[in-house]
This record gives sequence, structure tokens and C-alpha cells, in this order.
Amino acid sequence: MERTLVILKPSAVARGLIGEVISRFERKGLQLVGLKLACLSDEVLNEHYAHLANRPFFGQIKESMQATPVVLCCWQGLEAVRIVRDMTGATNGRSAAVGTIRGDLSLSTQENIVHTSDSVENAAVEVARFFRPDELFDYEHPLKAFVYANDEL
Ligand code: ADP
Repeated sequence: MERTLVILKPSAVARGLIGEVISRFERKGLQLVGLKLACLSDEVLNEHYAHLANRPFFGQIKESMQATPVVLCCWQGLEAVRIVRDMTGATNGRSAAVGTIRGDLSLSTQENIVHTSDSVENAAVEVARFFRPDELFDYEHPLKAFVYANDEL
């Protein structure tokens, strides 16, 4: 099973879309193994968005991510990283495909509702960045037998 990080950004929190976004992952069958509300510090954002540090909009992204607390989630499932990424859609909400979270719920590149890990390697680093080990719960998925066939597990 893979684990992946989802951040519900201030655009989701402020617009009352927390339930809508979490519900999409639940309905897909993914298992929630970590969940909390947090205010993101400059330090953690510098680390998390290090790949964008030289872009002119870096300060804006940080300001946007600090506008409200965010919701941090860790989802688990077979191929969870790719599945969550596919459900997220393209970075710019105006060009993200209909049916994706960004395509259905946003009209902006910056205010695009969610951050989701983009590779298995980054997912492991990002989950560890935002969750202590004791904040992640390794419990039996109660509906596992109805989400996966035995030979898929
Ligand atoms: P993604 O979130 O799709 O993985 P990136 O890692 O490239 O995309 O960018 C991280 C976040 O930075 C985006 O989700 C978006 O909020 C913001 N961002 C990216 N490009 C721009 C841009 N050109 N203008 C404003 N914000 C941007």
C-alpha cells in the first residue's frame, strides 16, 4: 500500500470545500490514515516549495498558503500517489480537466484547492515532513474486502 500527502489549501478551507474534497477521496475507496489542521510556518513552506524558490511568485504562494490554517491529510491505498494526483488535475484550475478536483472547483493557478504529492519518492518525504509517526494510524480498512479483490492485495 502507498501513502500520499494531500494539503487542503486556504482556498479550500475558506470556500467551505473541506468536506467536498475529503469526500471525493473517501468515495474513491482510499483510506484516511492521518488528518489535522495546521498553520504552516515560513520554514516548512520554504522546504515544501523549495523547487519554486527562484520563481517570481514564490512570496505570493507562501502568503496564500498562510492565509488560513490548512488541512493536512494522509491517504493510503494501492497506487494511491498516482490516483490522488490524477484526481487532482492540472496545476491551473482553468485548464484542469472537468471531473478533477481543480477542474471542478477552481479557476486559478495559485488558488487551486489542493496540494498532492507528485511521486512515490516525494510522497514519503512529504508525509514525514507534515506528520509525526504517532499521528499516522495503521488500522484495518473496515471496507477493504469491498474495495479490493483478494488477489489485488
Ligand atoms: P502542483 O501543485 O500542480 O504540483 P507546482 O509544484 O508546479 O504544481 O506548484 C506548486 C504550487 O505553486 C501550485 O499548486 C500553485 O498553487 C503555485 N503555482 C505554481 N505555478 C504558479 C504560477 N505561475 N503563479 C502562481 N502560483 C503558482
